[in-house]
Amino acid sequence: MFRRAPKSARWFARAQEVLPGGVDSPVRAFNAVGETPRFIARAKGATMTDVDGRTYIDYVMSWGPLLHGHAPRKLIKAVAAAAKHGTSFGASTALEVLLAERVRALMPSMEMVRFVSSGTEATMSALRVARAATKREKVIKFAGCYHGHADPFLVEAGSGATTLGVPTSPGVPDGAAATTLSAPYNDLETVERVFAAHPDEVAAVIIEPIAGNMGVVPPRPAFLEGLRTLCTRENTLLIFDEVISGFRVTSGGAQELYGVRPDLTCLGKIIGGGLPVGAYGGRADLMCLVAPAGPVYQAGTLSGNPLAMTAGLWALGELSPQLYTRLERLGARLADGLLDAAARARVSMYVNRVGSILTPFFTDTAVIDYASACRADTGTYARFFQGMLAKGIYPPPSQFEAWFLSTAHDESLVDRTIKVAQGVLKRVGAKG
Ligand SMILES: *Cc1c(COP(=O)(O)O)cnc(C)c1O
Repeated sequence: MFRRAPKSARWFARAQEVLPGGVDSPVRAFNAVGETPRFIARAKGATMTDVDGRTYIDYVMSWGPLLHGHAPRKLIKAVAAAAKHGTSFGASTALEVLLAERVRALMPSMEMVRFVSSGTEATMSALRVARAATKREKVIKFAGCYHGHADPFLVEAGSGATTLGVPTSPGVPDGAAATTLSAPYNDLETVERVFAAHPDEVAAVIIEPIAGNMGVVPPRPAFLEGLRTLCTRENTLLIFDEVISGFRVTSGGAQELYGVRPDLTCLGKIIGGGLPVGAYGGRADLMCLVAPAGPVYQAGTLSGNPLAMTAGLWALGELSPQLYTRLERLGARLADGLLDAAARARVSMYVNRVGSILTPFFTDTAVIDYASACRADTGTYARFFQGMLAKGIYPPPSQFEAWFLSTAHDESLVDRTIKVAQGVLKRVGAKG
């Protein structure tokens, strides 16, 4: 029997009075799946418990940061110990140096690092550096990639693939949007055409080297290498937004997995171990442009926060080859199980997966870019989501998001998830 979650619903009603849409980040409102958002009371390992006392196997994992699961005991201990020494100093600490050194050891392209408090800050600051270094203004981004909510990134292609971008949000000035050029993901030829149409104007190409924000879309073989070659030829900087993929797919991120060295890298999510951290970094000559080493201004009251640095140090300290082997196995098991369940229920599904991130798309064509992602049946996804949630599984509340596994997930939780999916998909399939 499915009972509405009354406390969550009541909190959501109150929330809507004081928080726009009842939330602090839009996707949390569950609008895309026609559900009432659950208010979470606590979480541990791979599960979350809401204010009504229902426990869910979590596949959102705070949208990516929680590689080691919710509230790992040792992380909590380390952060609590750090808090006793003070929560913020607005002054230098050894922790920042240690974390920067660790990041550089894991990702050698990041010769120098600047810590910020979110992925959004990392990407907007990296773009500023790229513009300063090249004395150019334009940036090429890919449709369906998300780089946080700074003005130049809230832009999609206008009519015709090589036209100037148009804002995807009111409040973004046309001037900001006009500096953004858009190309389809995995489409090197269009990038080449955009370069040809804007010679010596493009400061940077920014990309999620594994797209995660239109659902998971891996790069085609040679796509990233092709971008590297083009950027080098055009004296344009290549920025990898590894806010999701960094430390997620290997300890060295997508750049290690695919063997492509970007000029600048943006990090977030896992690097903070569940606390608010972002970082950007890359070639030392570029990072030395950042104040006070250089003239490019960028600052932050809580940047390099000691609690956040402590959490990040612990999270990165736990990385190991065995961890990624285990996550790969779990990811494959979940993907195979979902595909099998869909096939049995005669529901069309494609699963895109890289290691422990995956997206089951309700579609009958392969998803290689934003246009093909958009062919997925969001109505079917919504019914699937509702069925899963009712049975204690918490998938992302949108078709166009990644599922995240963590080291706290295990075979039995994944198998339970697949079992539930089999039943839910059968009902979803029967409705057609
Ligand atoms: C989440 C995300 C961001 C933005 O990070 P915030 O910490 O939410 O500001 C940027 N880029 C990518 C690829 C992301 O997934």
